[in-house]
Amino acid sequence: MSRESVRVVDAQGRELSRTTADRARKLVACGKATRVPGEPHAIRLWYPVAVPEARSPRDEGPAPGGELLLHVCCGPCATYPVPRLRSLGFALRGFWYNPNIEPAGEHARREASARAYAAAAGLPLEVGPYEPERFLQAVEATPLRPERCRKCYRLRLEAAAREAARLGIPAFTTTLLISPYQDQAALREIGEEVASAHGVTFYYENLRRGWDQRTRLARQYGLYLQQYCGCRFSLAEREEKIAGRARPGRGPAGSGEVVLADGRIDTSCLIEGGLYSDANSA
Ligand code: SF4
Repeated sequence: MSRESVRVVDAQGRELSRTTADRARKLVACGKATRVPGEPHAIRLWYPVAVPEARSPRDEGPAPGGELLLHVCCGPCATYPVPRLRSLGFALRGFWYNPNIEPAGEHARREASARAYAAAAGLPLEVGPYEPERFLQAVEATPLRPERCRKCYRLRLEAAAREAARLGIPAFTTTLLISPYQDQAALREIGEEVASAHGVTFYYENLRRGWDQRTRLARQYGLYLQQYCGCRFSLAEREEKIAGRARPGRGPAGSGEVVLADGRIDTSCLIEGGLYSDANSA
């Protein structure tokens, strides 16, 4: 079986992004999917997946060819979107603003990685302030997913929309759109909302097809690859997950799942599969 050869459908038979043989095996092993009878290179997830509506990049907001401000969530996640958006004719300017990242040392490390990539790719980069207190204030009332993540997106995308308007750039987008860890539909909805409030346009494109390339390119550029989403909560979740895995058998019998200390189910099998995920609905 070749490395990128497995077809994936959800419980309702909808085609999802293809995955690798290793990831397919992992999804089957952890009870998230079954093999499709008669099709050795296909798996079926046991649940339906909300796939964002397929729309051509040409139908979305600004016409490729103009200036575009690219919100950069980290260096690795910029490696695919930058050449991709340039290939559409966009003149790019980067914007770093991620007050969600903690601790400060981690923020500094990711910012340095974003700066290193920008320098290597010839991407002019605007750098916003580090304001972790603004993030904590924003999520204070809703510290759980998915509301916490929606607030986090809003904070960052609103700053990008404001920055685009300040610089006279008519449109913006975000590298968060490459990540299967993030809620694509929420990013789009919030991006369009804050764009409209600031008199600019949000460029939406599902960039997840570049996720595998992103990891390869990040290694090629020697960029720091982080191990958690960014905020203190995601760091705690990661630590809990590792602790949970170190004590096998905590999940429902036969499910292969790990139940976290607060009762949520670890969805990492799905997340790591690089598929459209419910990463923000855990
Ligand atoms: S998990 Fe990620 S997207 Fe969600 S609030 Fe934390 S840093 Fe933001």
